[in-house]
Amino acid sequence: MKIYNTLTKKVEEFVPNVEGKVSMYTCGPTVYHFAHIGNLRSYICEDVLEKTLRYLGYDVKRVMNITDVGHLSSDADTGEDKMLKGAKREHKTVMEIARFYTDAFFSDCRKLNIKTPDVVEPATNCISEFIHMITVLLEKGYAYKAGENVYFDTSKLKEYYVFGKQNEDELMVGVRDDVTEDTNKRNKNDFVLWFTKSKFEDQALKWDSPWGVGYPGWHIECSCISMKHLGEYMDIHCGGVDNIFPHHTNEIAQSESYIGHKWCNYWFHVHHLNDKNGKISKSKGTILTVSVLEENGYDPLVYRFFCLQSHYRKPLEFSFEALDNANAAYQKLKKKCLEIKKEAEKSEAKTDKAVFDDFDAKFKDALGNDINTSMATTLVYDVLKADINAVDKIALIESFDKVLGLDLLVEKETASSDIDPEFEKYITEQIELRKAAKKEKNFAEADRIRAELLEKGVVLEDTREGVKWHLA
Ligand code: AMP
Ligand code: ZN
Repeated sequence: MKIYNTLTKKVEEFVPNVEGKVSMYTCGPTVYHFAHIGNLRSYICEDVLEKTLRYLGYDVKRVMNITDVGHLSSDADTGEDKMLKGAKREHKTVMEIARFYTDAFFSDCRKLNIKTPDVVEPATNCISEFIHMITVLLEKGYAYKAGENVYFDTSKLKEYYVFGKQNEDELMVGVRDDVTEDTNKRNKNDFVLWFTKSKFEDQALKWDSPWGVGYPGWHIECSCISMKHLGEYMDIHCGGVDNIFPHHTNEIAQSESYIGHKWCNYWFHVHHLNDKNGKISKSKGTILTVSVLEENGYDPLVYRFFCLQSHYRKPLEFSFEALDNANAAYQKLKKKCLEIKKEAEKSEAKTDKAVFDDFDAKFKDALGNDINTSMATTLVYDVLKADINAVDKIALIESFDKVLGLDLLVEKETASSDIDPEFEKYITEQIELRKAAKKEKNFAEADRIRAELLEKGVVLEDTREGVKWHLA
C-alpha cells in the first residue's frame, strides 16, 4: 500500500512499526457547533483510509480526541475560547454544549457511514495526563513560565518547521489588527501549553495545576491522548490540511521533545472542501451541515459518493449543482445494483473465486495507490458491466462496499414502518404548527420546532410536494 506522507512530501510504501498492525490517530472535532460538510469531508476520507487498511488485512487501532476545551478562535492561541463562544450563543453551559454537539457529530457520522474510532476521548478527561507531559517538558527545559502561563520554547528544537516553512505567514493570523500579540512569548512560534492567567474572566472550565488554576492549550491534547492509547510510536496521524500548521507542527514539537525520539511516521492530510467563496467554514454565514443536505432532500450518502469521486489531496468545490449530478449518478448506480441483487437472489450460480480475486485485486490496487477512491468507485461500474454472473457481481459489490460505505445493496426501509402511533401523531402536529409559524413569518419558531424534532431523531425535509419526514 502506498500513501502520500506530508512529512516527506512523497508517495511512500506504507510500512507499519509492528508488522500487520496499524496505530492511527485522528484529530477530532471541536464540539462548539455542528460539523460542517467540509469537516465531514476530512472524516469521510479518513474513514476510507481506515477501512482500506482493514480491507488489506491490517489490524487497526484508531483513536480520536474530542476538543471540548482549549481551542481558541485563532489556532495561534489568541481570540475567544470556541467552547465559551458556543455556550454564550446558546445560553447553555460549556459541558451541555460539548455533549450536544458531540452527539450531533456522531449522528452525522452514522448517516455518512463513518465508523466510530475504536477509542474516542474528550480532552477534559485527560487533564492529569496533560499536566504530567507539561511537567516533563518544563523539567527537560523545553517549556517556560511567563505571565503565569506555560509556553513551549520552540527555539530549543533543531527543526521546528518539520512540514516546511511555507505556512509561516499564517502565524500572522495571531497578530492581526483585532488581536493583541502575546508579549509573554519568547519566540513568535512559541505556543501555550497551559493557561493560568486566563484573559477570559468568565472561563468556564478550569483545573488546579502546579502552575495555578487554569486550563490546557489546544495542541497538548492530541499528543497526550494519542500516547495514552497508542504508545510512543504511531503509524498514521490524520487531519485536514489546515491542521498542518500550527497544530500538527506543535504536536510533533512537544511529543518528540517529551519522548526523545521520532513519534509518528506517516502524516495524512485531507484537502479542503471549498465553495465558490473559498474554504467552507463555520464563521461564514449559514453552516452547511448534513441536516441542511437532508432538508434539501438529499440522502447523506450522496455527499459521501460526491467526496469519493475526487482525490483527498485535491481541493473539492461544493455546489448544489455538483451534488445534483452526484445524486443522479448515485441513484442510477444503486438502482442497477439492486436490480442485479434481485437477479442474484433468483440465481443458482456459485461464486467463482478466480473472478472474485481478479476484480478484488484491482480494487485493492486502486485504494493501495494513495487511496484512489474515484478509481475504486469506477470498479463498481466495471463489475456491473462485466461478463460475469450476477452472484459474482453481488459478492464483489458487497465486498467493495465495506470500504466505500455507500449502502449500494441496502434498500431504504420506509420511515414510519414500526413507529409508535402516538409519536407519529405528535410529529404530524408539530409539522402543522411549523407550517402555521412559517405562514406568520415566525421563522424563529419554525426553526425551533425543526430543531426540537431533530433532537428527537426526526428529520424534516421541505420538498416541492410539501414537508416530508424520516427518522435520523
Ligand atoms: P475542527 O472541528 O475545527 O477542529 O475541525 C475538524 C476537522 O475538519 C479538522 O481535521 C480540520 O482540519 C477539518 N476541516 C476544517 N475545515 C475543513 C474544510 N473546509 N474541508 C475539509 N476539512 C476541513
Ligand atoms: Zn489534533
